[in-house]
Formats: sequence, structure tokens, C-alpha cells
Amino acid sequence: MSAAQPLPQIGPHDHTLDACFLGPYGENDSLLEKLMVEFLRDHVYWRRNFHPEDPPAIATSAARDPGYLAFESRMRRELHQLSAALKKSVPFHSPRYMGHMASDLLLPGLAAQILTLPYNPNNVSEDAAPVTVDMEVQVGLQLARMFGYPHDPLQPACAFGHLTSGGTLANYQALRLALALKAFPVALRAAGVPELALPNDDWAAFNLSPAAGIALLETWQRWLAALPASQRTHWRARVEAERIEQLGLAGFFAAHPELRVPLVLAPVTAHYSWSKGVKLLGLGRAQLELLPTRGMRLDTDALEATLERCARERQPVLLCVGVLGGTEYGTIDPLDGVLAARERARALGLDFSVHVDAAWGGYLATIFRREDGGLRPRDEVAGEFTQFPSPAVHAAFAALSGTDSVTVDPHKLGYLPYGAGAFVCRDHRAVALLAERADYVFHGGTPQDYLTRYRSLGQFVPEGSKAGAAAAAVYVTHKVLPLDHRHFGRLPAQTVRCAEIFHAHAKRFALDIADRFLAMVPVTPDSNLVCLAINPRGNTSVAKANAFLRALHDTLRCDPRQPLQTKEYFGSVTTLRPEMLGAAETSRIFAALGLDEATLGDEEDSDRLMILRHTLMNPYLIDHENDISYIEGYFDFLTRRLRGLSEPAADARR
Ligand SMILES: *Cc1c(COP(=O)(O)O)cnc(C)c1O
Repeated sequence: MSAAQPLPQIGPHDHTLDACFLGPYGENDSLLEKLMVEFLRDHVYWRRNFHPEDPPAIATSAARDPGYLAFESRMRRELHQLSAALKKSVPFHSPRYMGHMASDLLLPGLAAQILTLPYNPNNVSEDAAPVTVDMEVQVGLQLARMFGYPHDPLQPACAFGHLTSGGTLANYQALRLALALKAFPVALRAAGVPELALPNDDWAAFNLSPAAGIALLETWQRWLAALPASQRTHWRARVEAERIEQLGLAGFFAAHPELRVPLVLAPVTAHYSWSKGVKLLGLGRAQLELLPTRGMRLDTDALEATLERCARERQPVLLCVGVLGGTEYGTIDPLDGVLAARERARALGLDFSVHVDAAWGGYLATIFRREDGGLRPRDEVAGEFTQFPSPAVHAAFAALSGTDSVTVDPHKLGYLPYGAGAFVCRDHRAVALLAERADYVFHGGTPQDYLTRYRSLGQFVPEGSKAGAAAAAVYVTHKVLPLDHRHFGRLPAQTVRCAEIFHAHAKRFALDIADRFLAMVPVTPDSNLVCLAINPRGNTSVAKANAFLRALHDTLRCDPRQPLQTKEYFGSVTTLRPEMLGAAETSRIFAALGLDEATLGDEEDSDRLMILRHTLMNPYLIDHENDISYIEGYFDFLTRRLRGLSEPAADARR
């Protein structure tokens, strides 16, 4: 019966991407080697030509001092040991790896990073990175364009973005910026700044829209710039003294007893970095309210009900987070619905920022972006896939441009080395509030030049010293593969097609093993992550299903006690939690798997159901050269495992 169902095909081989990666077999080794040698020589040339009159400080003659030789041999030994130890690494490059959010690295980025390392630029400021700090600011604009944000630095309301160590810190930056913007109008009121049109009370000041908050900030900066110097110092100090960044949460809310500490709203599927973020900012975990989902996507009805409650109770909201590509199931929240809910909350006097956590799915936006920067209509995009994009998914990407800020990880779907995360906000003018030193935004009435401002990057970002090499890697990659559907977009498009093929195989697999197992894809994939739930027929206990899945996963992960080659395929696991799924979804999934909900929580760790999770981002899952499908191979492997056949037949090794 299963053989009759046609499976989706990946389409013809796209040779334009052949030079993108080192390749699973190291196919492009001579290309990378040539580049490395060329740029190492180039770097040495640069050193020698800095002041050619300076003679070599280290003797370059052949006869080496015994101390030199001893050092060299120690260094070699340790490096060889490192190199040997690293062979136990996770084989992210291999199409047999479908576990976590990592894959092969894009050659332009890898080469740019390696070639930049010996120059060691520090993007804390232009003093330490005259070249790469500009690249980082340009990366912010490249990403802004990908999301549909204004990206012309000559326009006053241009976006701004910067790199971080990862999505966790980018999310933290979103919290920090939203709080600064929300609390600033309250500080202006408290300082009693004359002549500005300020909101009537603290509640209204704390509930300005982000746009109105930015407009007020601009008015204040212009007003300040027009004052005589002594007056300017006076008023600046007075407002600074009232700011939340000066007073701290305790001092600020003590000074404004009618205001409560604001909430951060996020779906239950949100990444745990949000929990870290509210703790780090001092809001406290109790201020992070996790909203229910429908089918693992943020339930906008629940969001609206929460916002009505907040308005009624005069409970401020700092930020509402929508997830674009959830870490566990790859689901995409209805960002259009979140923006609509904010519109309605505005009518009730409640306002806040909308942030998109697109650490995982951000680069999927390239699939929707035309070369001219416009948004591609759904029909046009859908022509390249079987199911993707659902109308809801397309609407979410279309709504990106209306949000206030985004987190995206170049070190995930950007195929670049760790740690490269990024934070992008739609209107850069709010960022002045994060400056460590007095930030003179206006010079004689005109705003300071965009690039000049952000060359002091360390002023505005959570980190201090930061790798200029990472910025070079992201910048060069985005130049080689512009962030639109014809260039970079080919990569994520391929991952989505692979996910569709994987999904179809999963359904066929479920039929193939139906005599002994119940298997299903519990959450319909929105993009390129596909989960698989499996339960032995006849078992009704969650604890036993978990023990079974854990044993299966043991065959699908790195074990430092065993040679890597003993593993055939790699997957990861996640869990389905009833409180996340909601009652209806839990019942549907448990019934399909033959599980008894009453056994939830029977034993330790049985309050949730373990499932397999597959990240389908490897570019070589379908090998056209040799006509191999590693997806098919994976399901063959799973079938053999489940049927207790440990050895593959000689002709079915893959
Ligand atoms: C990975 C991820 C994060 C955290 O990013 P890091 O780069 O690991 O710090 C945050 N949110 C989502 C949705 C993620 O997938």
C-alpha cells in the first residue's frame, strides 16, 4: 500500500551551490586550502610591509635554539592531541546528521573568519576595528532588508542591527531596548521637562507606542540641542537621574507607585533564553507570562484575553514575543495576529513592543524576499514546494516588517561559525537610550551621521570586546549570497523541500511499521524541523514509551565512549508536554499513539512524552551525484532498528 504513494522529489541538481561548502567528503578542500594559503601569505606581506625598515625580531636562520625546538615540539604535540580529540566531534557536516541546528559551514564565511583572525579586530569600537566595525553595521542593514525593515541609513527612521554571541544575548538586547524606550517618557515627566508635550500621567507615559516613544525622544534631543550649553547639562542630568537605567527597577517603581513591573508575554514554546533574559534584566521570572498555543503556535485568542486582562488591571506589558521557527518543533507564530492584537490593546490604552525571536527561522525570510527587496506573493513561493508556505506562514513573514525588533542567528540557518547571533530593531533612534556615555545625537540641529554613531558599537551593545572576525564572516557571506530568494534563499528553500520529503517518508514509514508500532508526525511542520513520535503497539504507558524512545535515541547520538563511525545516523529528541499542547491536541496525539493520558506523571520524567526531532538543514541530504537519499536511508535505518535487524544488508548500506 505504501509503495503506491508517490514521494515528493527534490528537483534538479543546483550546481550553483557546489562551491558553497567544504562538503561532506571535503570535496572543496583544494579551494579552501588555496584561499587559506593565499590569505596567510597576504597577511604576512602586510606585516612585513608595515615598516619594512624594521628588521625581523625573531632570528629566521635555520639553526634553532633548543628552547625554540622544545617549545615547537610541545606545541605540535598538544595540537596533534587536540586534532585527534576533535575527531570525536559531532559530524555536523554529514548528511547523516539531522540532530540539532548545525550543519556544514558556508565557505565564504569560514574563509573570511579564518583570514580575519590574525588581524584580530575588536568590534568594540572603530579604534580597535577600523574595518570590521563598519561591516557589522552593514550586516545589521543587510538583515534589516531581509526582514522588510527600512535599511537606508540616510533616512531618519532606518533600522539598526548588530551581532551578538548568539540568540540568547540578542533576545536580552530586545528586552533592554524595549524597557529603555518604555520608561523614558516616564523619566521626562518626572524630571519636569518644560515645553515638551508629555503624556498626562505615568500610565499613559508608560504606554506610548514604540513609534510615539521614539518621536518624543527625538523631540527631547532637538530641544536639548537647542539649549545653551549650561542649560543643556542641567536638563540632561535631571532627566538622567530619573531614568530606569539610573534608578534600577526598585528605585524607578518606588518613585512611580501607580506603575507595576511590566510583563513579558511569550508562547510556552519560547526558548529558555527568555527566562534567562527576564532574570538578567532583574524583572524576575514571575514577570514572564507564557501563553498557550494552538497546534504549537501562539494562540492569539489567548493573547487578546491576556491583553484585555492587563488593560483592566493596569498591568503594563513590556514586550510580546512571537517565535519564527520554534527551537523544538520549528513552528511559526502568527505574527500578523500578534500585531492585530496589539492594535486592539492600543484602544484599551495598553501598548508595548513586538519582538520576533527568529533565532532559528530568520533566514527563511530570504525565500520570501525578491531581489529588489519586495515581498514575494504566496502563490509564487508555493510553486517551488509541495505544501509550503501555508497561508499562515506566509502571513507571518509578510508581517515581519511591522514588528519592532528581531533576533536572528547567523550561526544557525546562516551556516556560519559560532558565535554569531544578531539583534535588529526597526527604528534605530531608540538605540540612543542604550548609550553608555552621553550620546550627542544632534549636532547643530542635524542628526549625527549613522555610520559615525555606530562605529562606537560598544556603547550600545551588551558586550564589550567582540570578534571582528565574526562580523567579517557574516558580511562577506551576505555579499556573496545576497539575502533574497535567488541567492541565499536557495539554501533554506532546499531545507524546506527536504523537510517535505522527510515528512512524506515519515508517513510511509508509519504505515510500514504499523503492525508493531504506532508512529506519527505530531506537529505539522511549518518549515524545516520535523518531529516523529513512536510507540510500540500495545503499550499504553508514557514512561515505557519514553524508555523505548530513549533507547532508540541512544543509537542516534554521539557517545564519547564509542567510535563515531559506529553510528549510522544522528537525530535529537524533544518532548511533548500536555500543558504546551492543550487538552485537545494531547488527546489527539495520545490516541493516535495508543497511549493512556492517565499514565502521564506516573513515574519520574513521565509528565511529558519524548519524541524524535530532526533538523533538516544539511545541504546534501539528497546526493544527486550518486543518487542517494539520506532521508530514505534514515527511515530504512529506523525500520531495521525497530525490527531488530542490527546489520544492514550489503546492498542497502545507506
Ligand atoms: C537557538 C535559539 C535561541 C538561542 O540562541 P543561541 O544562539 O543558542 O543563544 C533563542 N531562540 C530561539 C527560537 C532559538 O532557536
